[in-house]
Amino acid sequence: MQRDLFEEEHVLFRETVREFLAREVVPHHDRWEKDGIVPREVWKRAGEIGMFGFGVPEEYGGAGITDFRYNTVIVEEVMRIGATGLGFSLHNDVMAPYFVGLTDDGQKARWLPGFVSGELITAVAMTEPGAGSDLQGIRTTAVREGDHYVLNGQKTFITNGVNSDLVVVVAKTDPEAGARGISLLVVERGMEGFSRGRNLEKIGMHAQDTAELFFDNVRVPVANLLGAQEGQGFFQLMANLPQERLSIAVMAVAVAETVLRTTIEYCGSRKAFGRSIGAFQNTRFVLAELDTEVEIARHYVDKCILALNAGELSAVDAAKAKWWTTELQTKVVDRCLQLHGGYGYMMEYPVAKAWIDSRVQTIYGGTTEIMKEIIGRSFGF
Ligand SMILES: Cc1cc2nc3c(=O)[nH]c(=O)nc-3n(C[C@H](O)[C@H](O)[C@H](O)COP(=O)(O)OP(=O)(O)OC[C@H]3O[C@@H](n4cnc5c(N)ncnc54)[C@H](O)[C@@H]3O)c2cc1C
Repeated sequence: MQRDLFEEEHVLFRETVREFLAREVVPHHDRWEKDGIVPREVWKRAGEIGMFGFGVPEEYGGAGITDFRYNTVIVEEVMRIGATGLGFSLHNDVMAPYFVGLTDDGQKARWLPGFVSGELITAVAMTEPGAGSDLQGIRTTAVREGDHYVLNGQKTFITNGVNSDLVVVVAKTDPEAGARGISLLVVERGMEGFSRGRNLEKIGMHAQDTAELFFDNVRVPVANLLGAQEGQGFFQLMANLPQERLSIAVMAVAVAETVLRTTIEYCGSRKAFGRSIGAFQNTRFVLAELDTEVEIARHYVDKCILALNAGELSAVDAAKAKWWTTELQTKVVDRCLQLHGGYGYMMEYPVAKAWIDSRVQTIYGGTTEIMKEIIGRSFGF
């Protein structure tokens, strides 16, 4: 079925992004996988061609356009080449709403120009060693002392954890107040008492820096609180999570489509028993099933993108998109690997890298089980 999500300007933007990635990323990504990190220079080059912060007002260097289709173009192009090391979607899709929507004029002036230029890389630190799905179980505290908060605690699994300059840290400003006692503080690179732990060794996504963060009596100015008042952090997170989950769903469908396409080509050329493996009914049935499901996923996700643009994407619809597409992604990639036979297990074949990189998709951004909880709760039992 015809995809009708994009307009002419998105098509042109896609060409720019594709050209940038071919020049600045494709030749280097294998090395970054070995290094465990993407150099900051790439972020600046991406900033130069306008890849960050479309929704940032023009006076701060952005385009002033709130249209998630631009974000979608980037995610799709990055996934098409398997450049999972780039933490761009976390910066653009997840963090932009915090830095654009929850900042006052002073904060905007300090942070947004760097956000757009790629000189200030962002991250969000919710998860702790003892609390992931159960966000209210976090133990990091921020105690007000005059015009500072004194921040203490530890975070883990933080994407862009090594490269980030601005980290939105989720902390308890009133541990007795439950959801109403959580606030978001922006911790800046170089603040005394803020340190980073290991760049964690992962199953896949080897070029992406994922780190532990430590806060030891970090004095964070009250001017770094996001939102007008303390105690709103939990609700600010809940408001922004649908966009994060949609971004992951866009990624899931893009990977599934890419892997499926390359697998269909492979099945057309690989021979066994005197004919192409695509001639076996099993191969055709497997590919037919996956192709059907991926196309259905694509249309649901496109509808979610338009709903997000219209300010109507519900938490439940985003949860459906997130769990279903990411479970589909892992299935598609696994079945496609099987169709590659032994070559599918070799890292020089893109399907092998897609297989290890995909596994995390059903976990971060809220696990499949938590997504089903969100949907299940909507029945009002
Ligand atoms: C590569 C990577 C990058 C990440 N990036 C970030 C980041 O940038 N920032 C950040 O803050 N975090 C990040 N995370 C953390 C991620 O969001 C959490 O790992 C995830 O939310 C799950 O939390 P957990 O690991 O503590 O698992 P747990 O919450 O301990 O869950 C363990 C298992 O129990 C299940 N479970 C838990 N509660 C329920 C329930 N109520 N009902 C049914 N089942 C349940 C889960 O679904 C899961 O299967 C990242 C993680 C990874 C692996």
